[in-house]
Amino acid sequence: PPILHVDRLAKDYGSFRALDDITFDVAPGEFFTIVGPSGAGKTTLLRCLTGLLEPTSGTVEYQGQAVDGVPREFAVVLQDYSRSLLPWFSVEKNVALPLRAHGVAKAEVAERTARALADVGLRDAARKHPGELSGGMQQRAAIARAIAYQPEVLVMDEPFASVDAQTRADLEDLVLTLREEFGMTVVFVTHDVDESVYLSDRVAVVSKSPSRITTVVDIDLPRQ
Ligand code: ADP
Ligand code: ADP
Repeated sequence: PPILHVDRLAKDYGSFRALDDITFDVAPGEFFTIVGPSGAGKTTLLRCLTGLLEPTSGTVEYQGQAVDGVPREFAVVLQDYSRSLLPWFSVEKNVALPLRAHGVAKAEVAERTARALADVGLRDAARKHPGELSGGMQQRAAIARAIAYQPEVLVMDEPFASVDAQTRADLEDLVLTLREEFGMTVVFVTHDVDESVYLSDRVAVVSKSPSRITTVVDIDLPRQ
């Protein structure tokens, strides 16, 4: 059975229909990307998928259950990194908090936090506060927090938009590696067709007016 099931989803903002009649499934362990131009409704769709936004009609199910609030098995990396970290805590503490909240033992929290920060290239920034970091570094800290959590489902909205090209390539490969290691399902949003093809098993194309997924395409590229 699918891990995520979206059926006839629609979302209105007032009288404006941002999403209309969206239906698709995501399989367990799949790298699933939603691609489309700016304004097509990708962020709206992702927010509905993660229970951050209530659909106007239609259903979103995770493991056969209606999504109502972010399931604890999810880690979500939002596009707006400036609002994703808690400014009064260090980077390290930000990464550790969700693990502590879910009862992971202290030693393991420390180990997973250190590894995630090293993985995203922020080992030396662990004790800094988000306000002391560049935008790209804050986004990497948000990614570290998500991967340290080792979620069943990693959801990312344009996560590499504010990092330089080399960091972006490194982070893309990191996400692919972690997905192999932990078998997580990845739901990814980008406007970059090349990135979607490089990363994904399947790509859902969202078009504008009317905003709907026109096609779900299987990607069958060999990877090193
Ligand atoms: P994308 O992520 O593909 O750029 P969005 O989901 O952000 O698309 O937006 C889809 C459409 O919905 C756009 O036309 C946008 O202007 C509109 N929209 C998004 N959020 C709101 C909101 N809170 N209120 C009104 N319109 C919105
Ligand atoms: P890093 O933390 O990897 O050094 P930076 O935050 O310095 O990343 O940004 C890398 C590149 O992305 C720079 O060229 C920077 O100008 C650009 N950049 C960063 N944030 C934004 C943003 N919000 N909008 C547009 N470009 C950005």
